[in-house]
Amino acid sequence: MKFADLHIHTHWSDGFYSPKEVLDEAQKIGFSAIAITDHDTLQGSDEADLLIGNYNMELIPGVEITTLFDQEEFHVLGYFIDKKNQELLAALHYNRQQRHQRMVRMVEKLNDIGLKFEFSELEAYVGKGGMGRLNLAHFLVKKKIVNSTRDAFEKYIGQTSEGYEKGGYISTEEAIKLIRSAGGIAVWAHPGLADVEKKICKLVSLGINGLEVFYPKHSETQVFILKKLSDEHGLLVTGGSDCHGKGKSRVLMGEVRLPYDYVKALKESTKAGLKAASAC
Ligand code: AMP
Ligand code: FE
Ligand code: FE
Ligand code: ZN
Repeated sequence: MKFADLHIHTHWSDGFYSPKEVLDEAQKIGFSAIAITDHDTLQGSDEADLLIGNYNMELIPGVEITTLFDQEEFHVLGYFIDKKNQELLAALHYNRQQRHQRMVRMVEKLNDIGLKFEFSELEAYVGKGGMGRLNLAHFLVKKKIVNSTRDAFEKYIGQTSEGYEKGGYISTEEAIKLIRSAGGIAVWAHPGLADVEKKICKLVSLGINGLEVFYPKHSETQVFILKKLSDEHGLLVTGGSDCHGKGKSRVLMGEVRLPYDYVKALKESTKAGLKAASAC
């Protein structure tokens, strides 16, 4: 049976694999299709495009856009986007600038509470990576300021911790519009980790097209509820591992095997013209 993983990060954002390493690993597992969905950048996906001809696999254009939904961080996945769309590229660039400024503010906060390091050290450590909290967490481990990334999130950089700062990202509404006008499908990333039933009506009204139903942290009950919600609202179903290579406690690629029929449904919907989901 053919299967896919539609949520993978590379070292161009906060993953630890290069695009080539992602492709090698995915091929080894036996995926027929994958999407590289880095936070606010297409670099990893573009690099993989140049290599995909050497693999017996399909690379679906993808991105994970950081947005603000009711002033909280909210991730929107975009699939089958035109990766040359200028408005989309401009928005991703804007988000990356916001990430940078936000990280400067977070480092100031961490310095204020007594952690001694310079922003330039973090920048040098991150290299081509995106300025994300997972990158910062690994840096804090390397500096021996914390014992683990988990520790870093718990003590310093989790949403309720002292060192946390929100980025000034584009709104969820804008991200959905950008993805759709770039010919893509806008999907609510890892919805099970948020308050789905409370937010779904608003997201449908903003034009969301799908839900990431299959995700390593979703329980069977969550998958069941999310599938039901997808059916009720006429939303597409996607799934992926959110693999960050060795950046998270374990390599997640392979933990979600999305049956290829769901990929077919995504493709057919882009050809047929996306239908609006049914509102509440
Ligand atoms: P950011 O986009 O900079 O706010 O960072 C969010 C990213 O950090 C997520 O996409 C995950 O990759 C990672 N992340 C968030 N919370 C945790 C956590 N508790 N443990 C490990 N990684 C996390
Ligand atoms: Fe991430
Ligand atoms: Fe995410
Ligand atoms: Zn992700």
